[in-house]
Amino acid sequence: MSDLKKSIKLFDGMKLINGKVYCPLCEENGPIFKTRLNRDKLDIYVCDECDGLWFMNNDYVLYEKEGMQNLEEYIEKQFGDLEKTYLLYFDYDWYKEQ
Ligand SMILES: [Zn+2]
Repeated sequence: MSDLKKSIKLFDGMKLINGKVYCPLCEENGPIFKTRLNRDKLDIYVCDECDGLWFMNNDYVLYEKEGMQNLEEYIEKQFGDLEKTYLLYFDYDWYKEQ
């Protein structure tokens, strides 16, 4: 474990199991992957099961944003529509890689 990895502060209720982080609502059914939208410039963290959405600040703290608690809400608020929006990658091992 590197110092950086240890410094990530998970959102309340998230569980770390075998190096993957799981959603507070979906638990073992909802691994959280790191991704980025093709139209966006920042990494986001999304639950595979419920599309729950988190962000990470410069202090490696995961947090939710009011009114943007799932992927669809975020895309609609940021870009107004879902068209031509896709995920560039799915990284389930982001916690290990930090
Ligand atoms: Zn979930």
